[in-house]
Amino acid sequence: MWRATVLTLFPEMFPGPLGVSLAGRGLAAGVWALEARDIRDSATDRHRSVDDTPAGGGPGMVLRADVLAAAIDAVDAQSDRPRLVMSPRGRPLTQARVAELAAGPGPLIVCGRFEGIDQRVIDARQLEEVSIGDYVLSGGEIAAMALIDACVRLLPGVMGKLESSTDESFSAGLLEYPQYTRPQLFEGRPIPEILVSGDHAKVAAWRQSEAEALTQARRPDLWAARPAAKGPAKGESRKTPKNATDG
Ligand code: SAM
Repeated sequence: MWRATVLTLFPEMFPGPLGVSLAGRGLAAGVWALEARDIRDSATDRHRSVDDTPAGGGPGMVLRADVLAAAIDAVDAQSDRPRLVMSPRGRPLTQARVAELAAGPGPLIVCGRFEGIDQRVIDARQLEEVSIGDYVLSGGEIAAMALIDACVRLLPGVMGKLESSTDESFSAGLLEYPQYTRPQLFEGRPIPEILVSGDHAKVAAWRQSEAEALTQARRPDLWAARPAAKGPAKGESRKTPKNATDG
C-alpha cells in the first residue's frame, strides 16, 4: 500500500485536510496510509530539545542533525523509499515528479521548522529538497500536505472516472482550458456557444486552443518546455485567450 511517513514537530496537524474529500475517503478505505511521527521522540536530553542556535551566528534556531538523523533512521534505515525534505530552496515540485512519487512505495517526508535544518543531515541521509513555490512558509507541514494530496489523487481507486486526471493542467504540458457549467447565462455572460453545440470534435479543438493560449499567456516557461515544443509546430502563432488576465 502507498504510504507517506511524515517527520514533524507537529504530528497533530495530520491528517488535517488530507482526512477529507478524495484523499480522506482513500485514507479511510485503506487505499493509502499516513504516518505522522514526532521528531521530538528522537531527542535524547531531558528537555527533549530538537534545535540549537545557528553556527556562525544569526537569528532563529536550526533543527539538529543528530536528532533528525535518529528520527529518519527509526523509520526506515534499510528502505529505498524516496526521502524528501520540504524546503523553499528545493527543486520546484512538478506534476511529473508527483506522478513518479505516486507510482512508488510512497515517500518519507521531513518537515523543517525554524530557520531550517542542519545541512549535514540533508547530505548524510541524501534527502531530496522539494519546494512547493517561491515563497516561505513557517513550516514544512503544509508543503508536505500539498505534495501528499497531489500524489494521493493519482493512486488507483482514489479518483473516480468523474474526476479524471488525464485531461487536467500539466497532463500534456499545458494549463487546463476554462470550465463552465449551468446556468447558461451568468450575470450577462453566456457559456461559449461551441460548448453547447454538441459537436465533440469542435469542443475538443476549442479546448486545445484555449489551453495553448492560456499557457502561452500565463506560463511562457511551460509553453517553451511542453513536449510539442521539442518538434517544430508549424503555423503556430501567439494567441491571447479572452480570459488570460481574468485571474
Ligand atoms: N530560512 C529558510 C530559508 O530562507 O530558506 C526558511 C525556513 S522556513 C521558515 C521553515 C520550514 O518551512 C523549512 O525548513 C521548510 O521545511 C518549510 N518551507 C517553507 N517554505 C517552503 C516552500 N516554499 N516549500 C517547501 N517547504 C517550505
